[in-house]
Amino acid sequence: MIYFDNSATTKVLPEAAERAVQYMIQDFYNPSAAYSKAYSVEKDLNSARTTIASSMKVNPDEIFFTSGATESNNIAVFGTLSSKKKVREIVTTQVEHPSVYETIKVAAAKTGAVIKYVPLMEDGTVNLKILSETLSDNTDLISIMHVNNELGSVNDLKSIREIINQYAPDAVFHSDGVQGYMKCSLNTMPCDLYSVSGHKIHAPKGVGFIYAKKGIKNSGGQIGGGQEKNFRSGTINTPAILAMEIAVKAYIDNFQPWHDAMYRVKCRMAANLSQIKDVVLNGPSVEAGAPHILNESFLGVRGEVLLHALEQEGILVSTGSACSSKKTEKNRILHAVGIDGTRQEGAIRFSFSPFNTIEEVDYACEKIENTVTFLRKYKRR
Ligand code: PMP
Repeated sequence: MIYFDNSATTKVLPEAAERAVQYMIQDFYNPSAAYSKAYSVEKDLNSARTTIASSMKVNPDEIFFTSGATESNNIAVFGTLSSKKKVREIVTTQVEHPSVYETIKVAAAKTGAVIKYVPLMEDGTVNLKILSETLSDNTDLISIMHVNNELGSVNDLKSIREIINQYAPDAVFHSDGVQGYMKCSLNTMPCDLYSVSGHKIHAPKGVGFIYAKKGIKNSGGQIGGGQEKNFRSGTINTPAILAMEIAVKAYIDNFQPWHDAMYRVKCRMAANLSQIKDVVLNGPSVEAGAPHILNESFLGVRGEVLLHALEQEGILVSTGSACSSKKTEKNRILHAVGIDGTRQEGAIRFSFSPFNTIEEVDYACEKIENTVTFLRKYKRR
């Protein structure tokens, strides 16, 4: 089986899975308990916090564990807004993941805030000129994703930060970092809040974290036993967090070779597909996009038909985000960058891990070419 759907989820690293088992069976204690075995688990968790913080050059007390990026994004939006007496404007984009896009809509309806969507460039990145014209002293929250999960467009968070400093210095800057974390380098953390999910980086599902800059106003997530310094209550998922530490360490140790491996595979895929008639690249250029995401339209073919035909050949791809793949409506992300009609219908996302190979790409492209030729003939009859 060839797996090119790593933006939907990734296979857990065996070492990470082993560590999870260790903290489920031997070291299963509740880290908040008072005896020494529990204290030792708490120490290990704090060391995971330190590893994760070091991956972003931030302080360990700015990392809060959550159940994944959906929760982190909800905390970013609701936690920011509920810490304010009055909410005026939220600035975001039309291509955010539903855990930001829908959450902002609900939060705005509750608080009476106005949502301002900043238009995008054709490559799916935010239009920085219009962003600067949209921000003002009325802006309370800006939420702009790091890397788009369908197109692979990479937003320049550092430049966005500079624009915010100039035009809305008191606003909170959140970024959904799910597809950018460990795939694109961030020399310094430019955001006030940054959401990450474990299962996109070879850690288990149902775990993640939010970076929250020291001193930033946020009322946090769940209310309860006061875990995570009262920011996010609930017994934390010790096995998954310690597994996530292993995955993060692996990415830190292999950042450049893994980045290059994904990029090489993506470039080969793009080059091979460019040889097939009527195949159009969506989003950023191959060079400018994230190393692991490639979106291409096969004109005259329906994406979901191609997806299932490729599945028969043992090749797994996607027509877009797994979170919206069962919905029948049009693709909000592609529409926002002007991709509609047959180009939208024929879009396929290929997303890679550092473990995909050139041989897999060449094999898959041969099958894709044959399948597309067959489906196009079939469609014309
Ligand atoms: N944001 C983005 C950009 C994503 O790709 C995803 C996962 N599809 C999420 C948020 C949600 O992450 P999780 O599955 O950890 O809740």
